Amino acid sequence: MMKILIINSGSSSIKFQLIEMPSETLICSGLVERIGYDDAIINYKTKGDSLNQTHNIKTHREGLNKIVELLLDAEKGVIANTNEINIVGHRVVHGGNSFSNTTLITSEVKEKIQEYAALAPLHNPGNLEGIFVSEEIFPMAKQVAIFDTAFHQTIPEKVKKYAIPNELYENHGIQVYGFHGTSHQYVSNKAIAYLGLETSKIITIHLGNGCSMTAVKDGKSIDTSLGFTPSNGLVMGSRSGDIDHAIIFHLVNNLKYTLNEVKTLLTNKSGMLGLTGHMDLRDIVEEAENGNAECQLALAISTYRIKKYIGAYIAAMNGVDAIVFTAGIGENSPTIRKLSCEDLEVFGIDLDDAKNKSGSRDLREINTAKSKVKLLVIPTNEELEIAKQAYELVN
Ligand code: ADP
Repeated sequence: MMKILIINSGSSSIKFQLIEMPSETLICSGLVERIGYDDAIINYKTKGDSLNQTHNIKTHREGLNKIVELLLDAEKGVIANTNEINIVGHRVVHGGNSFSNTTLITSEVKEKIQEYAALAPLHNPGNLEGIFVSEEIFPMAKQVAIFDTAFHQTIPEKVKKYAIPNELYENHGIQVYGFHGTSHQYVSNKAIAYLGLETSKIITIHLGNGCSMTAVKDGKSIDTSLGFTPSNGLVMGSRSGDIDHAIIFHLVNNLKYTLNEVKTLLTNKSGMLGLTGHMDLRDIVEEAENGNAECQLALAISTYRIKKYIGAYIAAMNGVDAIVFTAGIGENSPTIRKLSCEDLEVFGIDLDDAKNKSGSRDLREINTAKSKVKLLVIPTNEELEIAKQAYELVN
């Protein structure tokens, strides 16, 4: 029996779960949000209890210390001392080409994570800080890193190479890496097990604040919509996804933006936010239903993009057995799922409206009986996938 603490540090948040393996029992979970602000929010849940507190939390270090205080709390805590934690599993966003598997953290691993911070500046520095702090707090625990890019290491060269001079690929690692790997891996494995497939062609659609799609053939990623950085592909909360790169030159040369302004524009002010002024999809759907034409168009733009990738990935795999929707939006928005599956009868895709609207939280089918392609909603669980991989590695 082992207790595994999973730490998933974002740019301004830390998600955590304590999981007992191999029973896969969730002991507690929580989230520290708005790190860097005076009113950071801590949410903490155990089996019978939950709490929500506001604190002044300026850094990831302070956030992690707060989490440990809660784990050890006399009343609401779940461990008596920090040595009870056997493994700390860290989600790390960018592992470049150096990691195709879950890895024990050594000083070389930390150096690599630092090196790849240049490619994931919003994520890798927070991930690394989480590792440093947790090495201090849990000196007896094994520290393990699980990379978002690892699952996509199976993408073939013809997909991962951009059509730019070879030297940039060979000497500078400019290529497709792909992200959300742990989520795509978790839900595709669930779909394969649920459908009992020996050979399989699955399209996984992860729609959260960041969004990506993956073509998973026989359990392996063969193409994915995010590339060198988590920027391109689908329309996201505040990221544009695919654009003509010449727009950047036009913005700089003719509209006199600085490069930093362009970066902020495309990363923090575009996507659904740029199209509607809202980032939370619930607000956009509500406004669209009330007749707001901008919001209606934004839903059309983002789901048209999803449909284009569905078509592309059916071509990439020469077919599809199942399409899986997951993450905050994929699991919870019948509107997005309906618009993404509309007018795709040519591929044998047929959504059942009533099933699509069911509010169940479990793995479920939302296709009609005559649909040739299974349409599934599968709640993602990156933390459990990390716990499984970390447990396997250490054992
Ligand atoms: P992250 O990428 O930060 O992990 P999540 O997977 O938690 O994000 O997804 C966040 C998104 O999920 C938000 O844009 C939110 O609007 C959306 N979302 C959550 N619940 C619903 C819902 N009931 N209907 C529509 N969208 C939802």
